[in-house]
Amino acid sequence: MTRRRQIYEGKAKILYEGPEPGTIIQYFKDDATAFNAEKKGTINGKGVINNRISEHVFTRLAQIGIPTHFIRRLNMREQLVRQVEIIPIEVVVRNVAAGSICKRLGLEEGVQLPHTLIEYYFKDDALGDPLVSEEHIACFNWASPEEMQDMASMAIRINDFMAGMFAGIDIRLVDFKLEFGRIFDGDYSRVILADEISPDGCRLWDIKSGEKLDKDRFRRDLGGEEEAYQEVARRLGLLNGEDNGPGEVLDMDAHRGRMRGKSPKPTK
Ligand code: UDP
Repeated sequence: MTRRRQIYEGKAKILYEGPEPGTIIQYFKDDATAFNAEKKGTINGKGVINNRISEHVFTRLAQIGIPTHFIRRLNMREQLVRQVEIIPIEVVVRNVAAGSICKRLGLEEGVQLPHTLIEYYFKDDALGDPLVSEEHIACFNWASPEEMQDMASMAIRINDFMAGMFAGIDIRLVDFKLEFGRIFDGDYSRVILADEISPDGCRLWDIKSGEKLDKDRFRRDLGGEEEAYQEVARRLGLLNGEDNGPGEVLDMDAHRGRMRGKSPKPTK
Protein backbone atom coordinates (compact mmCIF):
# COMPACT_ATOMS: atom_id res chain seq x y z
CA MET A 1 0.00 0.00 0.00
CA THR A 2 1.54 3.29 -1.03
CA ARG A 3 1.00 6.43 1.02
CA ARG A 4 -0.17 9.28 -1.11
CA ARG A 5 0.67 12.87 -0.48
CA GLN A 6 -2.31 14.93 0.56
CA ILE A 7 -2.29 18.28 -1.21
CA TYR A 8 -5.35 19.92 0.30
CA GLU A 9 -8.37 19.17 2.45
CA GLY A 10 -11.49 21.19 1.72
CA LYS A 11 -14.99 21.10 3.19
CA ALA A 12 -16.29 18.27 1.01
CA LYS A 13 -13.22 16.85 -0.69
CA ILE A 14 -9.60 15.87 -0.11
CA LEU A 15 -7.06 16.27 -2.91
CA TYR A 16 -4.14 13.86 -3.24
CA GLU A 17 -1.20 13.86 -5.59
CA GLY A 18 -2.11 11.79 -8.68
CA PRO A 19 -0.14 8.90 -10.19
CA GLU A 20 1.35 11.06 -12.96
CA PRO A 21 2.58 14.65 -12.99
CA GLY A 22 -0.25 17.04 -13.73
CA THR A 23 -2.90 14.76 -12.18
CA ILE A 24 -4.78 14.92 -8.89
CA ILE A 25 -7.07 12.50 -7.07
CA GLN A 26 -10.31 14.01 -5.74
CA TYR A 27 -11.66 12.09 -2.74
CA PHE A 28 -15.33 12.88 -1.97
CA LYS A 29 -16.19 13.06 1.76
CA ASP A 30 -19.59 12.74 3.43
CA ASP A 31 -18.95 15.99 5.33
CA ALA A 32 -21.41 18.79 4.69
CA THR A 33 -21.05 22.45 5.61
CA ALA A 34 -23.25 25.48 5.15
CA PHE A 35 -23.22 29.20 5.91
CA ASN A 36 -19.47 29.50 5.37
CA ALA A 37 -18.85 26.38 7.53
CA GLU A 38 -20.76 27.70 10.56
CA LYS A 39 -23.04 24.66 10.23
CA LYS A 40 -21.29 21.30 10.00
CA GLY A 41 -22.56 17.74 9.65
CA THR A 42 -22.42 14.63 7.52
CA ILE A 43 -24.76 13.22 4.90
CA ASN A 44 -24.34 9.43 4.77
CA GLY A 45 -23.13 8.20 1.41
CA LYS A 46 -22.99 11.74 -0.04
CA GLY A 47 -19.38 11.37 -1.21
CA VAL A 48 -20.16 8.19 -3.12
CA ILE A 49 -23.17 9.75 -4.83
CA ASN A 50 -21.50 13.08 -5.62
CA ASN A 51 -18.49 11.29 -7.11
CA ARG A 52 -20.83 9.37 -9.44
CA ILE A 53 -23.14 12.31 -10.29
CA SER A 54 -20.19 14.59 -10.99
CA GLU A 55 -18.57 11.92 -13.19
CA HIS A 56 -21.82 11.62 -15.12
CA VAL A 57 -22.32 15.36 -15.62
CA PHE A 58 -18.67 16.07 -16.52
CA THR A 59 -18.66 13.18 -19.00
CA ARG A 60 -21.83 14.46 -20.66
CA LEU A 61 -20.44 18.01 -20.77
CA ALA A 62 -17.24 16.76 -22.42
CA GLN A 63 -19.44 15.12 -25.06
CA ILE A 64 -20.85 18.54 -26.00
CA GLY A 65 -17.37 20.06 -26.17
CA ILE A 66 -16.91 21.63 -22.73
CA PRO A 67 -13.27 21.13 -21.68
CA THR A 68 -13.14 19.68 -18.13
CA HIS A 69 -10.55 18.47 -15.65
CA PHE A 70 -12.22 15.03 -15.33
CA ILE A 71 -10.12 12.06 -16.48
CA ARG A 72 -11.83 9.00 -14.95
CA ARG A 73 -13.47 7.69 -11.81
CA LEU A 74 -11.13 5.45 -9.82
CA ASN A 75 -13.47 3.94 -7.26
CA MET A 76 -16.58 4.70 -5.15
CA ARG A 77 -15.17 7.90 -3.65
CA GLU A 78 -12.30 8.96 -5.89
CA GLN A 79 -11.77 10.37 -9.34
CA LEU A 80 -8.64 11.23 -11.28
CA VAL A 81 -8.60 14.79 -12.60
CA ARG A 82 -6.15 17.14 -14.30
CA GLN A 83 -4.28 19.46 -12.00
CA VAL A 84 -5.31 23.06 -12.62
CA GLU A 85 -4.63 26.44 -11.11
CA ILE A 86 -8.04 27.28 -9.68
CA ILE A 87 -9.35 30.72 -10.71
CA PRO A 88 -10.46 32.31 -7.42
CA ILE A 89 -13.98 33.06 -8.67
CA GLU A 90 -17.17 31.08 -8.03
CA VAL A 91 -19.43 31.42 -11.05
CA VAL A 92 -23.10 31.16 -10.03
CA VAL A 93 -25.75 30.67 -12.70
CA ARG A 94 -29.37 31.42 -11.73
CA ASN A 95 -32.59 30.59 -13.55
CA VAL A 96 -34.98 30.98 -10.62
CA ALA A 97 -34.70 33.21 -7.53
CA ALA A 98 -33.51 31.31 -4.43
CA GLY A 99 -30.98 31.62 -1.63
CA SER A 100 -28.76 34.67 -1.32
CA ILE A 101 -30.28 36.64 -4.21
CA CYS A 102 -33.68 36.58 -2.47
CA LYS A 103 -32.18 38.07 0.69
CA ARG A 104 -30.06 40.60 -1.18
CA LEU A 105 -32.77 41.90 -3.51
CA GLY A 106 -35.95 41.05 -1.59
CA LEU A 107 -37.16 38.54 -4.19
CA GLU A 108 -39.66 35.80 -3.49
CA GLU A 109 -38.13 32.32 -3.65
CA GLY A 110 -39.23 30.36 -6.71
CA VAL A 111 -39.83 33.32 -9.03
CA GLN A 112 -38.54 32.65 -12.54
CA LEU A 113 -35.92 35.29 -13.40
CA PRO A 114 -36.58 37.37 -16.55
CA HIS A 115 -33.43 35.82 -17.98
CA THR A 116 -30.54 33.68 -16.80
CA LEU A 117 -28.19 35.58 -14.50
CA ILE A 118 -24.48 34.99 -14.02
CA GLU A 119 -22.91 36.18 -10.79
CA TYR A 120 -19.32 36.11 -9.59
CA TYR A 121 -18.15 35.55 -6.03
CA PHE A 122 -14.58 35.99 -4.86
CA LYS A 123 -13.38 32.70 -3.34
CA ASP A 124 -12.21 33.71 0.12
CA ASP A 125 -13.55 31.88 3.19
CA ALA A 126 -12.32 34.56 5.58
CA LEU A 127 -14.39 37.15 3.71
CA GLY A 128 -17.38 34.80 3.28
CA ASP A 129 -17.03 34.64 -0.54
CA PRO A 130 -18.32 38.16 -1.35
CA LEU A 131 -20.28 38.96 -4.52
CA VAL A 132 -18.03 40.88 -6.92
CA SER A 133 -18.47 42.52 -10.31
CA GLU A 134 -16.48 42.00 -13.49
CA GLU A 135 -14.90 45.38 -12.70
CA HIS A 136 -13.46 43.98 -9.44
CA ILE A 137 -12.21 40.88 -11.20
CA ALA A 138 -10.43 43.00 -13.83
CA CYS A 139 -9.17 45.55 -11.30
CA PHE A 140 -7.52 42.93 -9.08
CA ASN A 141 -6.55 40.71 -12.01
CA TRP A 142 -8.24 37.58 -10.62
CA ALA A 143 -9.03 36.56 -14.20
CA SER A 144 -8.22 38.12 -17.58
CA PRO A 145 -10.97 39.51 -19.85
CA GLU A 146 -10.44 36.52 -22.20
CA GLU A 147 -10.81 34.10 -19.28
CA MET A 148 -13.99 35.89 -18.16
CA GLN A 149 -15.38 35.55 -21.69
CA ASP A 150 -14.55 31.82 -21.76
CA MET A 151 -16.06 31.22 -18.30
CA ALA A 152 -19.26 33.11 -19.10
CA SER A 153 -19.83 31.38 -22.44
CA MET A 154 -19.13 27.94 -20.92
CA ALA A 155 -21.44 28.72 -17.98
CA ILE A 156 -24.31 29.50 -20.40
CA ARG A 157 -23.71 26.34 -22.43
CA ILE A 158 -23.49 24.26 -19.25
CA ASN A 159 -26.73 25.80 -17.98
CA ASP A 160 -28.57 25.09 -21.25
CA PHE A 161 -27.37 21.51 -21.26
CA MET A 162 -28.03 20.82 -17.57
CA ALA A 163 -31.44 22.53 -17.53
CA GLY A 164 -32.50 20.19 -20.34
CA MET A 165 -30.92 17.14 -18.76
CA PHE A 166 -32.69 17.77 -15.44
CA ALA A 167 -36.01 18.78 -17.05
CA GLY A 168 -35.97 15.35 -18.72
CA ILE A 169 -36.07 13.73 -15.27
CA ASP A 170 -38.66 16.16 -13.84
CA ILE A 171 -36.14 18.32 -12.00
CA ARG A 172 -36.02 22.13 -12.18
CA LEU A 173 -32.47 23.49 -12.30
CA VAL A 174 -32.84 26.57 -10.09
CA ASP A 175 -29.20 27.64 -9.76
CA PHE A 176 -25.70 26.20 -9.48
CA LYS A 177 -22.08 27.08 -8.85
CA LEU A 178 -19.12 26.39 -11.14
CA GLU A 179 -15.38 26.64 -10.66
CA PHE A 180 -12.83 26.88 -13.42
CA GLY A 181 -9.08 26.35 -13.55
CA ARG A 182 -6.15 27.17 -15.80
CA ILE A 183 -3.97 24.61 -17.49
CA PHE A 184 -0.63 25.67 -18.87
CA ASP A 185 1.12 24.71 -22.07
CA GLY A 186 4.34 26.67 -22.18
CA ASP A 187 3.48 30.35 -22.12
CA TYR A 188 -0.07 29.62 -23.16
CA SER A 189 -2.90 28.86 -20.71
CA ARG A 190 -6.53 27.91 -21.18
CA VAL A 191 -9.55 27.64 -18.93
CA ILE A 192 -11.30 24.34 -18.21
CA LEU A 193 -14.19 23.36 -15.94
CA ALA A 194 -12.94 22.04 -12.57
CA ASP A 195 -14.21 21.06 -9.08
CA GLU A 196 -17.51 19.10 -9.14
CA ILE A 197 -21.16 19.37 -10.17
CA SER A 198 -23.44 17.68 -7.64
CA PRO A 199 -26.46 18.45 -5.41
CA ASP A 200 -23.96 20.14 -3.03
CA GLY A 201 -23.57 23.05 -5.44
CA CYS A 202 -26.87 23.08 -7.32
CA ARG A 203 -30.47 23.84 -6.37
CA LEU A 204 -32.63 21.07 -7.79
CA TRP A 205 -36.40 21.08 -7.26
CA ASP A 206 -38.85 18.37 -8.23
CA ILE A 207 -40.84 19.94 -11.10
CA LYS A 208 -44.24 18.73 -9.87
CA SER A 209 -44.03 18.91 -6.07
CA GLY A 210 -41.35 21.60 -5.73
CA GLU A 211 -39.56 19.32 -3.25
CA LYS A 212 -35.92 20.26 -2.73
CA LEU A 213 -33.45 17.58 -3.87
CA ASP A 214 -30.20 19.31 -2.88
CA LYS A 215 -28.08 20.69 -0.03
CA ASP A 216 -30.85 23.09 1.07
CA ARG A 217 -32.32 20.04 2.88
CA PHE A 218 -29.21 20.17 5.10
CA ARG A 219 -28.90 23.98 5.21
CA ARG A 220 -32.52 24.39 6.30
CA ASP A 221 -32.79 21.29 8.54
CA LEU A 222 -35.47 19.74 6.33
CA GLY A 223 -34.20 16.17 6.85
CA GLY A 224 -34.08 13.46 4.17
CA GLU A 225 -30.88 14.77 2.59
CA GLU A 226 -29.47 11.26 2.04
CA GLU A 227 -32.65 10.20 0.21
CA ALA A 228 -32.75 13.43 -1.83
CA TYR A 229 -29.20 12.95 -3.17
CA GLN A 230 -30.02 9.31 -3.92
CA GLU A 231 -33.18 10.35 -5.75
CA VAL A 232 -31.19 12.62 -8.08
CA ALA A 233 -28.76 9.76 -8.81
CA ARG A 234 -31.65 7.34 -9.29
CA ARG A 235 -33.43 9.63 -11.77
CA LEU A 236 -30.16 10.10 -13.67
CA GLY A 237 -30.10 6.29 -14.01
CA LEU A 238 -27.01 5.88 -11.84
CA LEU A 239 -28.37 3.58 -9.10
CA ASN A 240 -28.88 -0.16 -8.88
CA GLY A 241 -28.56 -1.48 -12.39
CA GLU A 242 -30.26 1.32 -14.32
CA ASP A 243 -27.12 2.70 -15.89
CA ASN A 244 -27.49 4.86 -18.97
CA GLY A 245 -24.01 6.20 -19.23
CA PRO A 246 -20.39 5.17 -19.08
CA GLY A 247 -18.89 3.62 -15.96
CA GLU A 248 -20.48 1.28 -13.50
CA VAL A 249 -23.66 1.83 -11.50
CA LEU A 250 -23.86 2.30 -7.78
CA ASP A 251 -25.34 -0.31 -5.53
CA MET A 252 -26.01 1.80 -2.44
CA ASP A 253 -27.37 -1.19 -0.47
CA ALA A 254 -24.15 -3.11 -1.02
CA HIS A 255 -22.21 0.06 -0.20
CA ARG A 256 -24.12 0.51 3.07
CA GLY A 257 -23.48 -3.15 3.93
CA ARG A 258 -19.75 -2.69 3.43
CA MET A 259 -19.72 0.56 5.38
CA ARG A 260 -21.71 -0.72 8.38
CA GLY A 261 -19.66 -0.13 11.51
CA LYS A 262 -16.82 1.46 9.60
CA SER A 263 -16.04 5.07 9.08
CA PRO A 264 -15.15 5.68 5.44
CA LYS A 265 -11.46 6.26 4.84
CA PRO A 266 -9.48 7.01 1.72
CA THR A 267 -8.54 3.71 0.07
CA LYS A 268 -5.04 2.64 -1.10
N1 UDP B 1 -23.09 27.61 -3.88
C1 UDP B 1 -22.04 26.73 -3.67
N2 UDP B 1 -21.00 27.11 -2.85
C2 UDP B 1 -20.95 28.32 -2.24
C3 UDP B 1 -22.03 29.21 -2.45
C4 UDP B 1 -23.08 28.83 -3.27
O1 UDP B 1 -22.04 25.63 -4.21
O2 UDP B 1 -19.97 28.61 -1.53
C5 UDP B 1 -24.19 27.21 -4.76
C6 UDP B 1 -25.46 26.93 -3.98
O3 UDP B 1 -25.57 25.54 -3.71
C7 UDP B 1 -26.54 27.37 -4.93
C8 UDP B 1 -25.89 28.47 -5.77
O4 UDP B 1 -24.48 28.29 -5.63
O5 UDP B 1 -26.90 26.30 -5.80
C9 UDP B 1 -26.28 29.87 -5.33
O6 UDP B 1 -26.05 30.01 -3.95
P1 UDP B 1 -26.47 31.32 -3.16
O7 UDP B 1 -25.67 32.47 -3.64
O8 UDP B 1 -27.95 31.46 -3.21
O9 UDP B 1 -25.95 31.09 -1.69
P2 UDP B 1 -26.55 30.29 -0.46
O10 UDP B 1 -27.98 30.70 -0.31
O11 UDP B 1 -26.39 28.86 -0.83
O12 UDP B 1 -25.67 30.71 0.66
